[in-house]
Amino acid sequence: MSRPEPATRRIVRVRVNPIRCTAFGFCAEFAPELFALDDWGYAWLRDPKATGELADVAREAARLCPTDAIILEEVEESPDTLVVTRRSQGGTH
Ligand code: SF4
Repeated sequence: MSRPEPATRRIVRVRVNPIRCTAFGFCAEFAPELFALDDWGYAWLRDPKATGELADVAREAARLCPTDAIILEEVEESPDTLVVTRRSQGGTH
């Protein structure tokens, strides 16, 4: 009898590069469920893992950031492993 495969879920890990962030604030305006701003207007993450529709919101926020400060990693996560399948920074502007 074989063991069942562990559940794998696809998530997007989100980070903000503090060197590139210049406090425009678009991310927090567009996706307040993911981003907030500190007292100086620099972005920080409410939750660094986005799934489902929130993952699409994270991708769009990265595209909108004028300084390409938002880093995304597409990840397949299971209880035993974590595989980064794609890494990107910013959009296509
Ligand atoms: S949109 Fe980009 S530059 Fe502006 S606060 Fe967010 S991460 Fe920083």
